[in-house]
Amino acid sequence: MTGLPGVVAAAAFGAVVGSFLNVCIHRLPLGTSIVWPGSACPHCARPLAWFENVPIVSYLALRGRCRGCRAPISARYPTVEVLAAAMFALAWWQYGPGVLLASRLVLGCALIVLFEVDREHFILPHAITLPGIVAGFVFSFFTEPGWQSSLLGILVGGGSLLAVGYAYFWVRHEEGLGMGDFKMLAMIGAFLGWRLTLVTLMMASLIGSIVGVLLIVSQRGGMKSALPFGTFLALGAVVAATVGNSLLDWYLGQW
Ligand SMILES: [Zn+2]
Repeated sequence: MTGLPGVVAAAAFGAVVGSFLNVCIHRLPLGTSIVWPGSACPHCARPLAWFENVPIVSYLALRGRCRGCRAPISARYPTVEVLAAAMFALAWWQYGPGVLLASRLVLGCALIVLFEVDREHFILPHAITLPGIVAGFVFSFFTEPGWQSSLLGILVGGGSLLAVGYAYFWVRHEEGLGMGDFKMLAMIGAFLGWRLTLVTLMMASLIGSIVGVLLIVSQRGGMKSALPFGTFLALGAVVAATVGNSLLDWYLGQW
């Protein structure tokens, strides 16, 4: 399918995938199975009928409330579904069918889950990052960035944050970076290769610094209030995957 019907189909499929990502975001921090049982209202535990489980549409039809107990449904559900739908549509339009599309979408889905779980719970589940490293490396044999760059990306991504983490611990005697952060950057390295891993790290640090300064200025956080670095890594990786190569060419052209 090409043209508009293809993009629409990709968006619809993306919304369904987004619905599954919501399940992962909700259940991975709880340590419960992501496949069983079916979805239920987190407030009253009433199992959801199929028509309450249609991505985006159900949320709008139910006006954001559980049909049983009237408890508000988190806006995270439709947001993730819309985001996934947009990501699938844009990626389909950008890459067309092929291994690169699959690779980028698998990475994108992992990033959505890690972004939100880290933002809410300050954890980056191994159940995502470790299989992600393997998946990215396997993909790299068939598409960008090639297996050598992927392998270097794993080492550079994991190694750089591990070094920063140890240095921080050595200076401050406390953990600044979680152990999940370096596994996440290793995963990003596996998918994007070492060059874009460095772009990811720079962008994540830049975005994190801006958010940190804004929080201090608005007096909602102090110098030491913890920020979810994995959330910034996810944003940095999106920048790197989409415009990273142009950024690198421009930056290196300045010398
Ligand atoms: Zn309910």
